[in-house]
Formats: sequence, C-alpha cells, structure tokens
Amino acid sequence: MGFLDCFLKCFSSKPQNQVPPQLPTDSIGEEHPLSIQDELEKYLLATRFEKQVHPTIIAQWKLETGNFTSELCKKYNNFSGLKWREEMEDAEGCRKVSYTSHEGYPIDYCAFDTRENFVKGYQKFIEREVYFDAFSPEHQRTGEAYLRWIVECGFCPTEGYVEDVLALVDKDTPSDPITPDNPASDYRIGIVIGHNSSAQGATNIMGESEFNFHSRVMEKVVSKLNEDYYIKMYFRKPHVSYSRQCADIASRLDDDAIDRAYCIHFNSYDGKTQGIENLVMSNCSSNSLKMASVLAEVLHKGYGYPYRGDKGVKRITNEAGSGMLRAIQGKGIDCTLVEHCFGDNPSSKKTFGDEDNFVNLMVEGIRKAL
Ligand SMILES: [Zn+2]
Repeated sequence: MGFLDCFLKCFSSKPQNQVPPQLPTDSIGEEHPLSIQDELEKYLLATRFEKQVHPTIIAQWKLETGNFTSELCKKYNNFSGLKWREEMEDAEGCRKVSYTSHEGYPIDYCAFDTRENFVKGYQKFIEREVYFDAFSPEHQRTGEAYLRWIVECGFCPTEGYVEDVLALVDKDTPSDPITPDNPASDYRIGIVIGHNSSAQGATNIMGESEFNFHSRVMEKVVSKLNEDYYIKMYFRKPHVSYSRQCADIASRLDDDAIDRAYCIHFNSYDGKTQGIENLVMSNCSSNSLKMASVLAEVLHKGYGYPYRGDKGVKRITNEAGSGMLRAIQGKGIDCTLVEHCFGDNPSSKKTFGDEDNFVNLMVEGIRKAL
C-alpha cells in the first residue's frame, strides 16, 4: 500500500552519498525562517511518534523527496509520496490531487496546504487500519523497528528501502530508545485500582463500574509492561475507614519498594462534562508531575478529550482522592491519581468501546514518563 514516488526509485538505486546536499535555509519559501528539516522536526514533536523514531522519519522524507527537492513536496507539501486514501478525507488541510509520477500516468496523491498539516497528515496516514500496530511501544522503540513494521505492512514495496532510509538517518541526533539496559527499567511501578469490590465507584455508559472495568483492563496493561518493568496491581481492601484503606495501600507499595504509583479512576458528573484530569498533590515531586502530564497528553492525543486543569494536570490540596495521594506521597513514592475520562459522557464510548486501544494508550503514557 502506501506510496511510491519517482524519487524513491531514483534515490534508492543510488549510493547514499549522492543525495543532493541539504538546501540552504529559506530555499523554498521565504516565509519560513527555519530550514525545512528543522521545521518538520518541530512539527514531529507534536505527534504520537516517539522521539527516538523522529530521525528515521526525517530520513524517510529526505529519501522520498530527494532531500526536499521533489515537485510533490515543493508544490503540494507532500514529503512522503503519500498516495490518496479515503481515510485522508477529513485530514486537516489535505486534498486529493492528480500527479504524474515517474510511472508516467497520473495517480491521486495527497496535497497539503502547509508543512505542519503534512506532518499531521503523515501521522493520520500511519494511523490507518493497515498499519494498526505502528504506535505500539514495541514498534516505537527504535526508528528501525518502526520502519520495518510499516514496510512489512506494505508502506513501500521497493527492495532495500529500509536500508536506504537507515543510511540517511542523522547519526548526530540523539536517540535514546528504552531498552531493558536503560536505567529507566529499574523503576518499580504500582497500579492502584480505584475503589473496591464493595464500593465500586462510578458507573460508565456501558453500565460497568470503575472497579470492575479497571480491574480487568489494567491487568492487560500490566501484562504488557511487565516484560520490561517490575509492575504490580494493588486493590484496596474494603474497610469502613477510607484513611485506613489509603494507609494500607501506601504501606504495601512501600513494602514492595514501588517508585511510581498510578491510582486509576474515571470521572462521572452530569453526563455532559468531559475531559482528562490527572491529580497530583500541590507539593508533589517533579516525577509525579511528569507522570500526570505525560499520561494526560497521550490520552488527549489519542481520544481528543479536552484537558482539564493545567493541560490535564490538577494540583490539589484537600479534595476527594487527596487522602490516597497524601498517604502514598508520604512514603516518598511518586504518584498521580488518574481520571482518564468522564465515564458518563457519551464521548467516552471511544474509551470503553475499544479496550485494546485504551490498553495501548495507558502503556504508552506510563512508559513515556519513565
Ligand atoms: Zn473513582
């Protein structure tokens, strides 16, 4: 599937060192003060692609445009030979154009109004069913893993494509894939399921309680992460005293030497309110803040739910839920209380109707903060 552009054929058959030198700044539009590459890199930061994958994507675009010189990129801001696909219909600033490539006959390609919308459009292109697993931690772990995956799914049928792209990856760009050797994997993670079997919390639009939904789904999150990390679920023991429940959880986390705890909830209010809010204590650690904000960002991008509080993070002093945070923080453990959506809002079907997607986003959000 995917694309095939004349530049690709030209360049993949040439040794890498014959790729034209990088264009000087402003060579294409004077209104752009950054070099094209810098500009594209900047927009990539706002996508779901992991940072360590960015240099490979840039290399891909360099190859496909002959170092940003192709007609398709100059005229249509299409830096990746993206052929038109129905799913691109609602991509921002994207339309269908007929363009005659090296094959000698017109083919429908995507045209973008701006470079920024191209980068968003590229993400959208990869979010299509055919590349279904492209954003999993496994395939975002390194640029090569990502590239091999999309090629395997049919992104480019040209032989040697992966090697040609990898040869163009800018080796100076730091990349820090998370591997089992990475110190980050020393973190010990606790997942605290909100509420308990006798008081199950709010009910979502599918009629399932917070406690039941999270007990089931977070189990899947744990099983995905426990290949690389020590991670364990914690359940609150029913007890009349809430502070006793909190103290009990905090001491069990402490006994297991947990570094980072996520208390998992969804919100519920009037059926109309929506959004993500991850709670932290107002005097929390910077790691706690990072856990809350990174996860909020991943969920926001994944579902389009609005942020509540400061970009999805709410610092609290004395509210419902703060007892648990205070008890855990009191043990020196970084923590956030996650309210990943309003479960009584019809829009939350996006969450509850596709559990695997929810699992993947949670895995991504937890992993990214390590
Ligand atoms: Zn709750």
